[in-house]
Amino acid sequence: MSTRLILATRNQHKVAELRAILTEAGLDVELVGADAYPEIPDVPETGVTFAENALLKAHALARATGLPAVADDSGLCVDVLNGAPGIFSARWSGKHGDDLANLNLLLAQLSDIAEPHRGAHFFCAAALALPDGTERVVEGRLLGTLRTAPAGDGGFGYDPILQPLGESRTCAEMTADEKNAISHRGQAFRALAPVVKDLIG
Ligand code: IMP
Repeated sequence: MSTRLILATRNQHKVAELRAILTEAGLDVELVGADAYPEIPDVPETGVTFAENALLKAHALARATGLPAVADDSGLCVDVLNGAPGIFSARWSGKHGDDLANLNLLLAQLSDIAEPHRGAHFFCAAALALPDGTERVVEGRLLGTLRTAPAGDGGFGYDPILQPLGESRTCAEMTADEKNAISHRGQAFRALAPVVKDLIG
């Protein structure tokens, strides 16, 4: 029987993305989302780094279920803002999850910043925790520059303003598969596959 692994998210797209990556890596694990355990409450993200938040979520879920657990935490880091919004990406405008307000505030803050100084990257930390307390963290980055106006209808969050290096389109103008192939989360999940194989595969 395959090992059950739980991913700390209620987003089925994230579950499908990690499942595909683990399958491609030849791993015999049954990946389920946190939806499979509705009685377990979400963990407050009280860490001050992406890795801390990912570990907090993975450990809490592993403890509560007795299963190996994976969690990720991600955000946008802007060079000229010394890495902000960073862990505050989802609530940069003050209201959690208001993607449009977050994006508009960031554009306004950067309105005087010229193209050569508009470097930024998406960052993702992905953590694996076992019920016995064993932990591993890996990371992924998608480097790019920030447009001065949004472009594209796809994706979410800051996708309409992040243009990956070597691309002429923003992330919001790419298909989901194109973005997954280069994204911070895709890179972190692919880096996690051999770690999962090593510890539970
Ligand atoms: P989470 O860790 O996936 O919940 O992401 C936290 C926040 O970072 C999101 O609410 C977005 O504002 C931003 N973010 C993370 N990943 C992406 C991405 O792939 N595209 C656009 N925004 C992202």
